Amino acid sequence: MIEKIVSKNFDIPNSHLLDVALKNGRYSSLEKLFSMMPDEVTQEVLDSGLRGKGGGGASCGVKWQYMPKNDKRPAYLMVNGDESEPGTFKDRQIFEYDPHLLIEGIICSSYAINAHDAYIYIRGEYKFFIDRLNKAIDEAYAAKIIGKKVMNKYNHSINITVHRGGGAYICGEKSALIESIEGKRGHPRLKPHQKECEWFFGNPATVNNVETIASVPHIIKNGYKAYTKYGTKSSPGTMLFGISGLVKNPGIYELAYGNKMIDFINKVGGGMKSGKKLKAVIPGGVSCPILTADEVNKAVLDYESMWDIGSTLGTGGLIVIDESMCMVKAAKNIIEFYHHESCGQCTPCREGSGWIDKILGNLLNKKANSNDIQTILDICNTMNGKTVCVFAPALVDIISSMIKKFRHEFDAYARK
Ligand code: SF4
Repeated sequence: MIEKIVSKNFDIPNSHLLDVALKNGRYSSLEKLFSMMPDEVTQEVLDSGLRGKGGGGASCGVKWQYMPKNDKRPAYLMVNGDESEPGTFKDRQIFEYDPHLLIEGIICSSYAINAHDAYIYIRGEYKFFIDRLNKAIDEAYAAKIIGKKVMNKYNHSINITVHRGGGAYICGEKSALIESIEGKRGHPRLKPHQKECEWFFGNPATVNNVETIASVPHIIKNGYKAYTKYGTKSSPGTMLFGISGLVKNPGIYELAYGNKMIDFINKVGGGMKSGKKLKAVIPGGVSCPILTADEVNKAVLDYESMWDIGSTLGTGGLIVIDESMCMVKAAKNIIEFYHHESCGQCTPCREGSGWIDKILGNLLNKKANSNDIQTILDICNTMNGKTVCVFAPALVDIISSMIKKFRHEFDAYARK
């Protein structure tokens, strides 16, 4: 079930170094890339069905098509490497093991959207990965792979800058990411409608996740059919799925979309540690509704199947929970994260996350009753759909699903 496209070079010793990367196929898509027109590159990516791998799953090709044509303003490519969500740790594998794949993907993507400057926004705490990425970029400049002329011969210039975030989770939201690079507080922007590119200092910009960009060279070099032969019709290709929690083999594994979740847990993750029973899975970072063990048995790892069972694929980072774990403590742990990371711009999110945190704390200290559990659900109702960004709805999804599906555990605390 493991299919390696993005992770193909991860196990090669010193795969992050330019000479090793070159020997193992990096930058080999560029000859074909520059034999194509930019619109043809976009069409190839569109035909591949490549979807954003940072959580939303939007079509990458459609996003590129939103960039205005024949526009005199400079265009920008923003690469989102700000992964900060519990359970999500895939992009750092690319930074660590194959940063030249990301640089190659940036060359391909920037050519498609006519951008000559790319920013990689990276989580501030990722010091090791930032250093590794900067070293790879320095190598690429020194070898004239990037700069005024790509590979010192193609008529496309590209400069790449690494921007280190200040450590705010919300800067992984695309408009907050841009605000942050613009030097402002990382607050998400109001989005009048979705069929528009992003704007960086009033110039058109596209924001793509690291893994999404790293998937592009394979599509360009081998054609879209080499990508659509993996996965399902509407979720083609592969994804770096993560598995953490109480399984025997936690880690990152590249799988085609369409595999059964339970097979991933048992065959790749090695099954439950200590022979305990599976109780639940949070499927894609913590911003998704939780699945019970019965639902996990039916779940299939693609976008549509996950929506059909009332959750989402998110970032593909599964958090596996066994029967020994307390759902109230898990919910408290998660709400502390959201409460801390709310940017504070919207009152329902800023105050609501704090209220839920406080009530769950009271519940754990046996100072709350069943009315208080209902109050949490009422707060969730008040938050949903009334905020600038999807942070609050994501919080609502996970907390309300934990209460609704494991209500007996919350009630047990309420009965003291
Ligand atoms: Fe900030 Fe929360 Fe509002 Fe998003 S929903 S803009 S994180 S306050």
